This record gives sequence, structure tokens and C-alpha cells, in this order.
Amino acid sequence: MHGTELPRDAVVPHPLELSEHVAEARRHMAVCNACRYCESYCAVFPAMAMRRDFAAGDLTHLANLCHGCKGCYHACQYAPPHAFGINLPATFAEIRQESYAAYAWPAGAGKLFERNGTLVSLLAAVITTLALVLVAAIKDPSVLYAPQTGPGAFYRIIPLWLMNLLAGGTFLFALVALTMGGLRYWRATGPGAGAKVTAAPAAEAAVDILTLRNLGGGGHGCNDMDDSFAMTRRWLHHAMFYGFMMCFAATTTGAFYHHFMGWTSPHAFLSLPVQLGTWGGVLLCIGTAGLMWVKTTTDPVPVARRLLGGEYAILALLFLVSATGLLLLAVRHTGAMGLMLALHLGLVLALFVALPYSKMVHGVYRSLALLRNAMERRAAARAAG
Ligand code: SF4
Ligand code: SF4
Repeated sequence: MHGTELPRDAVVPHPLELSEHVAEARRHMAVCNACRYCESYCAVFPAMAMRRDFAAGDLTHLANLCHGCKGCYHACQYAPPHAFGINLPATFAEIRQESYAAYAWPAGAGKLFERNGTLVSLLAAVITTLALVLVAAIKDPSVLYAPQTGPGAFYRIIPLWLMNLLAGGTFLFALVALTMGGLRYWRATGPGAGAKVTAAPAAEAAVDILTLRNLGGGGHGCNDMDDSFAMTRRWLHHAMFYGFMMCFAATTTGAFYHHFMGWTSPHAFLSLPVQLGTWGGVLLCIGTAGLMWVKTTTDPVPVARRLLGGEYAILALLFLVSATGLLLLAVRHTGAMGLMLALHLGLVLALFVALPYSKMVHGVYRSLALLRNAMERRAAARAAG
């Protein structure tokens, strides 16, 4: 054996095994498993009931299955100030963040989740400044500040090859990093990590993801702000998610038009890419602004306050990306287009770079947790005959 090499039969400890939040969640599960009052609130409690032991991998899975709706906190007779201090939303939020750091790719990148709000804000500030400085340096003012119209107007400010290189390169990096993180998470969480994924549980998980079923509580919503029930957070999250997907579809459609139809942007206002981008941008603005408002007004106890900076920062970045996209549409035939294009591109690049090291990774981990949950539900139903 050389250096730090492990013997073949060595058991590799789970990266969160020594986490104080995992120990706290284990204590919570002992109480919840005896109580089970919240069984119908979300997928977490039935998944908890399927387990006898709560290894770090199990608790990481349950934490990522939790949607942070706070329903169980407001229902709980053992919540603070009770001596048991049961506070699942805050405890699970801490474990989620630790799992994002533990499985981040490449190795060592998990440190980027510490002081995450500062990191995301700095990335946005530095990359947008660089984009503005670069455009101002390479473009003659007579072109940069002159109204540009007709096909190829944007590329007279920033060449298409440069846009493709920067946006394509950063997006590809984000995709690889998110995929690697997701694979590491999948292998390390819960029993049945090697089980084969089939179409039926994948379809069930897809419905859960697309409808945010777990934010519906028992049908009346969750406790977004206080102990009253509401669907606010669910609808705002839908606006953000579907807005993001529409903006992505707008970019894909624009690329298809350019490469396969020979139609160069800027496209007409009523064209498919512009309509998708406009309404997607409006939804994204509403969703992100609304979710920031919910965070500022919600009951602060069932919240991991340490993590709020990162959550606000990525929501603000998403808001700025969509707002500058809409502004770019508004000024695209004026002399302000050049700088607005550089500002928007800088923010988009910052978002792509930040994606794998921000709260945005919850989309991957929660989707995988919902997939595992659908597989476990089916296995339990089969076992019950
Ligand atoms: S959160 Fe509280 S009320 Fe809900 S199952 Fe756990 S102990 Fe019971
Ligand atoms: S906070 Fe909501 S989603 Fe999370 S465990 Fe409690 S009821 Fe379930």
C-alpha cells in the first residue's frame, strides 16, 4: 500500500458522516418516526417511514427531497420553543448545502459554497465589467453608440464567433459540472443507488418536478410566510422555472433559425424566438422578484439564515439577466443597444459560470431525489404485493 491508498476492503466514509446537521437530522427523524403527524404533507415523511436506519446518505436524500415548504414546522408540537426543538426545514436546508459542496465538481470546488452570496455577486460584477470594458475597447464609438438595424445588428457589436465561444464554452462547462455533481450525489445517497432506472418512475418523477406537487401540501398549499396556507411560493417557482425554460427555448430557436434557416437576428417582435424570450423574461422577472419578496417576509425561524445570502444573490442574478434581456429588446434599434448587449451577455456568462456553484444545483439534486423516491415507492408497492 502506498501513501494514502486505502485497502481494498476499506469502507469509504460518507462525506457528511461527521456533519453536526446530519446528527441533528438523525435526532429529528427519531422523533418524527414515532410521531408521523406530518405523513401526508410531502414525500419526505413516507420516505422516512420506509427506513429503519438513517445513515448520512439516507439523510442527504431526505434533505434533498424536502422542498422547504415549512408545513411540518408550523404543524409541529415539538418545534421551538419546545425542548425537542424540531425544525426540519432549517436542518434539511443545511444538509442540502453541505451535499452541494460535498459532490461539487471538480474536486475542491465545494469551497465555493462557503460565503456563496459574495461569490455569486463578485462573479456577476467582475464578468459584466469585463464584458463592458472589452466591448468599449474593441468597438469604435461611431459603431458602438450608433443605432444598428437589420440582420446581423448584434454581431456588428460582438462578433457571432465570440458570442458562441463565450456562451457555448461557459454553458458546456456548467453542464459538465452539474452532471458530474449529480452522478456523485446519485451514487452516494440512500439504498438502491445502483438500481436500474426505468421509464415509469422516471415519468412519475417528471410529473413531480414539473408540477411541484410537494409544495401543494395536502392540497391547500404550504406555509410560505407563516402558519397560514398558501400556493404563493409554488406559483412563483413555476413562473421562474417556466420563464427560464422559455428563455432557453428562445435561444435554441434563434440558433436553429440562424444555422438551418439562414434567418439572422434581430428577429421581428412577433417571431417565435422573440415571443418566447419576451414572455419567458417577464415570467422570470416575476418569479425571481416574488421569491425574493417571500424570503424577506417569511417567518425566519424555519429558515437556514446562514444560506440566505447565496439564495438572494442567485435570484438577483437571474432577475438581472431577464430584466436586461427585456431592456435589450426595448432599445435594440437605438444607440443604447451596444452597451445593453454587452451588459446582458456579461450577466448571462456570470450565470452560466455560477450555475454549478449556487443554489441552482438544487434543480439537479431535487430531481434525482424525486426520481429515487418514485423508484422506492414502486419497490415498496411491489413488496406489499
Ligand atoms: S415534524 Fe413534528 S409534527 Fe411533524 S412528524 Fe415530525 S415531530 Fe411530528
Ligand atoms: S419543510 Fe415541507 S417539504 Fe420539507 S419536510 Fe417539512 S413538510 Fe416536507
